[in-house]
Amino acid sequence: MAQTHVLGLPRIGAQRELKFAVESFWRGESGEAALQETGLALRRRNRALQAAAGLARVTAGDFAWYDHLLDTALLLGAVPERFGLDARRMTLADSFKLARGTPSQPAMAMTKWFDTNYHVLVPEVGPGTQFGEGVEWLYEAVAETQAEGFAAKPVLVGPLTFLWLARSADPAFDRLGLAPALATAYAAVLKRLKAQGVEWVQLDEPALALDLPPAWLDAAGTMLQVAAADAPRLLLATYFERVDQHAERIAQWPVQGIHLDLVRAPRQLDTWLAHLPSHWVLSAGVIDGRNIWRCDLRRELSRLQPLQQALGDRLWVAPSCSLLHVPVSLAFEGPSLPADVRGWLAFAHEKLQELAVLGRALNEGTAVVREELAEADAAIAARREAPRVHNAWVRRRLAGVDESMTQRNSPYARRAELQRAALQLPPLPTTTIGSFPQTPAIRAVRAAHKRGELGAFDYLQRMRAEIADAVARQEALGLDVLVHGEAERNDMVEYFGERLWGFAFSDNGWVQSYGSRCVKPPIIYGDVFRPEPMTVDTARYAQSLTERPMKGMLTGPVTMLQWSFVRDDQPREQTALQIALAIRDEVKDLEAAGIRIIQIDEPAFREGLPLARADWDAYLAWAVRAFKLASCTVADATQIHTHMCYSEFNDILPSIAAMDADVITIETSRSRMKLLDGFGRFAYPNEIGPGVYDIHSPRLPSPEEMLALLDRAAGVIPPERLWVNPDCGLKTRGWPETEEALRRMVQAARALRERLFPARAQQQETAPAPLSARL
Ligand code: GLN
Ligand code: ZN
Repeated sequence: MAQTHVLGLPRIGAQRELKFAVESFWRGESGEAALQETGLALRRRNRALQAAAGLARVTAGDFAWYDHLLDTALLLGAVPERFGLDARRMTLADSFKLARGTPSQPAMAMTKWFDTNYHVLVPEVGPGTQFGEGVEWLYEAVAETQAEGFAAKPVLVGPLTFLWLARSADPAFDRLGLAPALATAYAAVLKRLKAQGVEWVQLDEPALALDLPPAWLDAAGTMLQVAAADAPRLLLATYFERVDQHAERIAQWPVQGIHLDLVRAPRQLDTWLAHLPSHWVLSAGVIDGRNIWRCDLRRELSRLQPLQQALGDRLWVAPSCSLLHVPVSLAFEGPSLPADVRGWLAFAHEKLQELAVLGRALNEGTAVVREELAEADAAIAARREAPRVHNAWVRRRLAGVDESMTQRNSPYARRAELQRAALQLPPLPTTTIGSFPQTPAIRAVRAAHKRGELGAFDYLQRMRAEIADAVARQEALGLDVLVHGEAERNDMVEYFGERLWGFAFSDNGWVQSYGSRCVKPPIIYGDVFRPEPMTVDTARYAQSLTERPMKGMLTGPVTMLQWSFVRDDQPREQTALQIALAIRDEVKDLEAAGIRIIQIDEPAFREGLPLARADWDAYLAWAVRAFKLASCTVADATQIHTHMCYSEFNDILPSIAAMDADVITIETSRSRMKLLDGFGRFAYPNEIGPGVYDIHSPRLPSPEEMLALLDRAAGVIPPERLWVNPDCGLKTRGWPETEEALRRMVQAARALRERLFPARAQQQETAPAPLSARL
């Protein structure tokens, strides 16, 4: 009998019940009992679904109030000392303090869970870290599951991944030194689970997909030896990448099975079959846990059947990873998804159904699921053949892309001269990243328009009023390069996706991003085509209000991909280039409308990097090419900007330089310009605007602070190539703080100008030449 199981299910609830319950608790509107009740109901529901799908074991411990890595830390007693809390007496309210901060303590840091958009809380470790007993939540979840009559399979982030993601405030601290103590703590947890009668534990070690230093791989094996001393059987769960490069090593570890991601890394299977110890279970992750397309069940069966013959009972079947990364259920979808597109999709609950079909087909023969297989075949064929997926014109155009389309006409130095002449900017020009505060009034207007309560004309009028207001404020502040403020955009990807062919939007396709925050990624199902200009009217109107240059604002191809569910029937590169062509047309139209500076945001450029370094170059090559295809259509005098934030880019600087944007604005204020050292060392050739105001914090830096940051920047980047700006868009801030911060920023820029460019410092005070004379 092949067994089916899941690595984890979404915990937010099909209608984001957990989000609303937790937020109500935070606001003090409901008590812990109500929250506990919601949590229990959600876990019960997930267990019932697993049972209904015929899974042999029911996963426990995939639920978390805020984050599963936080819960792992609490289980191991690893509470950051600075909070002064005791893990053994931790209440729910206490645990939220760690996640959200207190008046005196900042929250624990967050980091992306590998290459997903889910964020974990980073375990804090240091010389004083003591592991030991912690919260009882995992044991309680197991007991709860068993009480309902199920065989509980607890899931636990493994010691390697836990320690790898942990950070110390002291950069000199070597966290690997904690391995022995950590292994002992895991041993205690596993022993208790065994005492509870648990037969299998799923130990998640996605860190194995990374390029780990050998010392870490050694430590992983040693930790397991200690942890597994008196433990239930262990299924080592790997996902997001191949791990067969370590097959020989892992086969020596004291576990009884391995889970493989055969969606992301199908080719690792052969190596594993050659190395799999004869008593091990192999859990085949064949249903895509990272994407929302229906599974080609027949194709997967043809992969699984030989495996079943070879492994018999030792074959387990599962989604590739936890279903945390896909929306919960299609059942709550309304009119937003086109009916045919809906038929091509499987969210978490539908994936459970797919898993059930695979299990039955393997165990009882395909005849018993003939109808289900036929239905899946029909859906796969419908998607393949659907007219809305294919656009011959787009394909022809893409085939015709040549090198000349991905190069500017002249090198940066020449372009800079022409841009200086055309734009007449002072040295150290000041600008912002694009969005201005999204006031409740703006949101209300957008929502009313969306509901159909505010007609197109009135909506346009209201948006224009917002633009006029933003322009007036920027002129009064004395900013040099203006933006229209992005009031019309709810989200920088959604706004464009809604105007492009090939994108669909769900009503309820929420995925947890961090804590109670969820995102609803667009679905890119078909060839991307721009039927008409998307931002030109807005930009033209904004520019008509001012003599100063107005930036056109676009979202780049990689960011559009990264924050969407992307079609899996062609390489991502292909989809990126299609989006790039659509943006290219927009860029061209903006230029023709008299916009002289165009910013193409790529905040997700770095997060698109594959987990395995060996794959980096290929990704970077097409990501850079997509940006250039989008941007290299303008005259030399037109200035291209890009913006990246939250990124550590020192290791990809050559690629960032290869994008050849005339100006890049980046996040640096929090890292106190540390990031800039990399740009200096690498001798970044074009212009840079290192953020001098951290928009993520309500704190207002003083002009002196900003000046000090600018001074540091000017020591690394020649001041002729330096811009002055905040480190990201201002949409989450309020107007009073925004205006005050920008006032100080302009003041700091002027002070430095006077010092470094005394002869040109007055330039900003004289109005630039009339726009008409410059166009
Ligand atoms: N232009 C966008 C804004 O200002 C950029 C947002 C981002 O970098 N994430 O909001
Ligand atoms: Zn940003």
